[in-house]
Amino acid sequence: MANPGILIVVAPQRGVLPPAAFELVTAGRRLADALKEPLSAVVLSDKAQGPAAELAARGVDKVYAVEHPLLADFVEELHAKAAAEAARKSGTGKILVSSSVAGRALAARLAVLLKAGLAADVFEIRPDGRVLRPLFSGNLIAEVEFKTPVAVISVAPMTFPRAEKAAKTGAVEPLAFDPGAPRSRFVSFKAEESNEVDLGAAERVVSGGRGLGGPEGFKLVFDLAHALGAAVGASRAAVDSGWIPYRHQVGLTGRSVRPKLYVAVGISGQIQHLAGMSSSGTVVAINPDKDCPMMQTANVAVQGDYKELIPLIIADIKKRRG
Ligand SMILES: Cc1cc2nc3c(=O)[nH]c(=O)nc-3n(C[C@H](O)[C@H](O)[C@H](O)COP(=O)(O)OP(=O)(O)OC[C@H]3O[C@@H](n4cnc5c(N)ncnc54)[C@H](O)[C@@H]3O)c2cc1C
Repeated sequence: MANPGILIVVAPQRGVLPPAAFELVTAGRRLADALKEPLSAVVLSDKAQGPAAELAARGVDKVYAVEHPLLADFVEELHAKAAAEAARKSGTGKILVSSSVAGRALAARLAVLLKAGLAADVFEIRPDGRVLRPLFSGNLIAEVEFKTPVAVISVAPMTFPRAEKAAKTGAVEPLAFDPGAPRSRFVSFKAEESNEVDLGAAERVVSGGRGLGGPEGFKLVFDLAHALGAAVGASRAAVDSGWIPYRHQVGLTGRSVRPKLYVAVGISGQIQHLAGMSSSGTVVAINPDKDCPMMQTANVAVQGDYKELIPLIIADIKKRRG
């Protein structure tokens, strides 16, 4: 049997903790409180102390800081080895990793190294340790019960709120790491050049759907997003039509977003789209069909043609801002 407790695994990117790390803290804290077990974390980096202290300040009971020059950039083999060593040291049975592209790779390798059960893209963790995850592109939802002593859970980004500063700060403990003779090495990192607000971390999102009628409709969507300082999202119908690249897609087979404001323009609100944005704060729908699911679920439903409404909304925003 593994020790009680929950361990979250975090790899800062170029010295900065990704927002998903704070979502993992919330997920871990809720589970730890439900099970009355301690919450620990491991930070894997060439400079782990600062990020480790940041996690400790957000209420993680104990943070292991694994510092090594070879952990500066993400290398699946090395990060999984370092995470497995920390997991063995802590002895905890439930390990949470973010379900980012790198996190998914890390979780799979970690599960192999620890002979652990693995559930990927989890969006709900039950107090009894069972988890929910989508299957067959989200057409089915599986409830997973782990039979192995150790479980690795990759948590879908934007499904838990980010942990804020806690009343009690946890402890930070350095942990040595011997990379041995790695078979893979980091070569280079090329950042995508874009002036767009990142969809995954955006506090405001304006999304367009098939109701835009064509790619030119996105011009108004971008104008509104610009006026609001928002990121641009899209429905799958708009993406499949080739009106906007896939990286903008919101929904089960796209990105999950959790902004304070979500504006859905010409989107009917099918279940697969709602799955990616239903945790948003305030939802505004712009649509001529008052009975469509998006208009029915929105906090503010604006009935009409987006071509007439968006210029009026932009003019109003500009007027209010003086
Ligand atoms: C396995 C699977 C996975 C999927 N994954 C996703 C996913 O990740 N994301 C996703 O979005 N979909 C996904 N889908 C597709 C989903 O089922 C819907 O087909 C899709 O979301 C519909 O997109 P839409 O709302 O833009 O188009 P429609 O459903 O065609 O809606 C268009 C809306 O525009 C409105 N409209 C028309 N004219 C105007 C106008 N002038 N001004 C304003 N509004 C107007 C209409 O009234 C209508 O409500 C998935 C489907 C499957 C089967």
